[in-house]
Amino acid sequence: MYRIPFQVMLRNFNTNRSAGVYLSPLADHKGSALQEKVVLFCLAKQNLLKGTDEAMFRVRFHGRGGQGAKVASRVLGTAAFFEGYYAQDFPLYGAERRGAPISAFTRISKEPILERGVITEPDIVMIMDETLLDDLQVRPLSGLPEGGIVFVNTAHTSEEAKVRYKITAQVVTLDLIKIGLDMLGRPVLSTLASGVASKLVGIREDALGMAVEKEISEIIPDKDLIAKNREVALYCYRTIQAVEVKTAQVVHKGSPVFSMPCEAASVSSPSINVAGNTFLRKTGNWRVFKPVWNYEVCTKCRICVAGCPDGCIALNTEGFPYADYDHCKGCLICVEECPMKAIGSEREVHAW
Ligand code: SF4
Ligand code: SF4
Repeated sequence: MYRIPFQVMLRNFNTNRSAGVYLSPLADHKGSALQEKVVLFCLAKQNLLKGTDEAMFRVRFHGRGGQGAKVASRVLGTAAFFEGYYAQDFPLYGAERRGAPISAFTRISKEPILERGVITEPDIVMIMDETLLDDLQVRPLSGLPEGGIVFVNTAHTSEEAKVRYKITAQVVTLDLIKIGLDMLGRPVLSTLASGVASKLVGIREDALGMAVEKEISEIIPDKDLIAKNREVALYCYRTIQAVEVKTAQVVHKGSPVFSMPCEAASVSSPSINVAGNTFLRKTGNWRVFKPVWNYEVCTKCRICVAGCPDGCIALNTEGFPYADYDHCKGCLICVEECPMKAIGSEREVHAW
């Protein structure tokens, strides 16, 4: 009567796509604390997917490399698993580069999940970086059916976000970056977004808390930081109002096991080899913090120039460094590298 998560990594090298899939029941891991908790949750009253036994939630996360969209999808999948559901989660990367757009996916169902591949018609879209809503190549709202829900990480209200981004679906907003900075001291949003998604899906608090502890403890050993992540996930969970998701439709009968839609070559293999085209991609909108220089302290040693991974620090006519803010992605490596502490950082709030 218990299920133990078993992760299978499937990798398709043609598309650089990997899938973490929970299959259950699979194994008998006797005597573990986890097992006892899992038994508890499998016997608990199941409170999501109240409708048909065949209903399935499909959640699609859109974020930027380093924000934690992949971990958010994993925590959500694990929380659902702890509630006794079948769950599947996996990320999809384009450029494996901090700040680049990434997607992650979670499917949750009472029945074994045979669907594979990217989620093209999500019930819930989680926007972890609102600048992605303006990105014509990402198109994060694509496939959202009528009645679906969009969460936007923004300092603005849901009504303001709806108007600004012309979203017709129900919109939920919360300023995850502010909460992350206030409670964790950094703009890493994984557990925060998992708290929001768990509330929207209808997962219980204790399953979310256990999932955060399990997933974050596999990434960081610091117990205090794990506890803080649990706290901030639950804070977001409690701050978000419950909403009705009307689109968790039945599992598509007769779906082939693999139903990977074909992507246009321009999407799966963008022409990154075309000379000089990276300049056209203004990565400056990836930033949360921007570097600022104090020329009174700077010794013109040029270490920051050499250390910038994007080559976007140049020298002015007096030999002092400055950033091309159209392309500085805000990684703050220059801040870390400067031996004179001559570079500080300033928070930027995306305004419209
Ligand atoms: S923060 Fe500094 S190192 Fe990072 S991209 Fe901007 S200028 Fe370069
Ligand atoms: S690393 Fe620091 S001291 Fe050296 S040039 Fe850059 S800002 Fe100036």
